[in-house]
Amino acid sequence: MADMQFDLVVIGSGPGGYVAAIRAAQLGLKTACVEMRDTLGGTCLNIGCIPSKALLTASEKYEEAKHGLGGFGVKVAGVELDLPAMMAHKTKVVQSNVEGVQFLFKKNKVARFHGRGVIDAPGVVKVVKPDGSAETLTTKNILIATGSDVMPLPGVTIDEKRIVSSTGALDLEKVPGRLVVIGGGVIGLELGSVWQRLGAQVTVVEFLDRILPGMDAEVSKHAQRILGKQGLSFKLGTKVTGARMNAESVTLTLEPAKGGGETTLEADIVLVAIGRRPYTEGLGLEQAGVALDNRGRIVTDHHFRTNVPGIWAIGDVIAGPMLAHKAEEEGVVAAEVMAGQSGHINYDAIPGVVYTWPEIAAVGRTEEQLKEAGIAYKVGKFPFTANGRARAMQVTEGFVKVLADATTDKLLGAHIIGANAGDMIEELALALEFGASSEDVARTSHAHPTLTEAIKEACLAVDGRPIHI
Ligand SMILES: Cc1cc2nc3c(=O)[nH]c(=O)nc-3n(C[C@H](O)[C@H](O)[C@H](O)COP(=O)(O)OP(=O)(O)OC[C@H]3O[C@@H](n4cnc5c(N)ncnc54)[C@H](O)[C@@H]3O)c2cc1C
Repeated sequence: MADMQFDLVVIGSGPGGYVAAIRAAQLGLKTACVEMRDTLGGTCLNIGCIPSKALLTASEKYEEAKHGLGGFGVKVAGVELDLPAMMAHKTKVVQSNVEGVQFLFKKNKVARFHGRGVIDAPGVVKVVKPDGSAETLTTKNILIATGSDVMPLPGVTIDEKRIVSSTGALDLEKVPGRLVVIGGGVIGLELGSVWQRLGAQVTVVEFLDRILPGMDAEVSKHAQRILGKQGLSFKLGTKVTGARMNAESVTLTLEPAKGGGETTLEADIVLVAIGRRPYTEGLGLEQAGVALDNRGRIVTDHHFRTNVPGIWAIGDVIAGPMLAHKAEEEGVVAAEVMAGQSGHINYDAIPGVVYTWPEIAAVGRTEEQLKEAGIAYKVGKFPFTANGRARAMQVTEGFVKVLADATTDKLLGAHIIGANAGDMIEELALALEFGASSEDVARTSHAHPTLTEAIKEACLAVDGRPIHI
């Protein structure tokens, strides 16, 4: 029988859990990871970040081949969609990623247990295997990294066939004629974009009067305009109150968010994307006495200790943005603190990216947040229309916007909407992490011609001295 005593048992193998397990093993802790899914990698690798980006890239290529190459003098005829092949690409990408985690576990000697992890008591994790049998692990530390699950919408029951969550929307067998996306957040816009590019008529219904809540308002307004030009339509300030299944379609009932008369909207497929909630079902938290907040998230201190000694938690199951890289950072810090080291996370420098076309990326504060906090700031902006490389690439849509402290010039926030924004934001995340000023970035040489020159110019614009506009 295998040795069942560990220094650390991680429950959940998403980006939080698997990264924590590897880091702990690197630090010499005898580590196990319990995962109930057949494959490792959690939401992110199996049904989240990775498959969605595989389909976003594939659908972008289809769209480009169909409409985007003529302007470069490349004539393409007879472009056709092969949806099964596109889905096969997605499956292959997921498979290679989840197998990658398995390889890393082997390499780092992390023991993998397949089954549902239940905390029997501090220091004791029962693994209930798919066949119903169980085995018990004893451990000095338990790290809960069980992630999140789809937030349900009352009156709109998900069947993953015609009313789908993001999981079903990543796996549709044919392009829907009419897709209604409930929720104008990141996941709704990304998956709405995929199916719109492939030919669906997409309507996004959003309760608030804007899309991408939480992002800089100027940027999300601009994003709505661009996505609208691409063909997505928006019903803002609208709530979905119910869904009726017909033989071939779904009828949604809508009401103005502020109250008023009911209307209906027909769809072939409905995607419910109103958010995610922490997943703690069947974990045994109550019997272990682990405290939750009023939104069902596990409460931790800044080193990820729960109120019960020896039980820690990270990732989507605790407070903070539900992002894979946030979960990873927390996993690393939790493992290092368990191993007797110190660690911290600067939550002000965690970037967020929306992988639509163009991409939308942000780090640090928005104008609205700075106003609310009463912090005086300066804005520097630079449009991609004035960037040489963007013209050469025919990607002149969007801009870079930086926000700097009015007195000290320290960078407080940065927002990019434009091609490759998700890669470019990293320069500004590093700048924020290092406490840089806009002058520091403006004085840094940026290779010519690159899109990143727009970042330098936006930083010059904070002081009213951009060169190319
Ligand atoms: C469609 C979609 C697209 C996304 N795109 C992005 C993106 O581009 N970038 C980004 O940063 N984030 C993205 N996210 C969010 C990202 O997936 C999450 O923030 C991230 O996966 C959280 O990591 P985690 O380790 O906390 O939990 P998860 O990845 O959710 O992993 C938790 C794991 O724990 C397992 N588990 C739960 N309970 C138990 C138990 N009792 N016993 C054993 N195992 C258990 C689950 O099976 C799961 O595998 C996306 C999410 C979705 C749904």
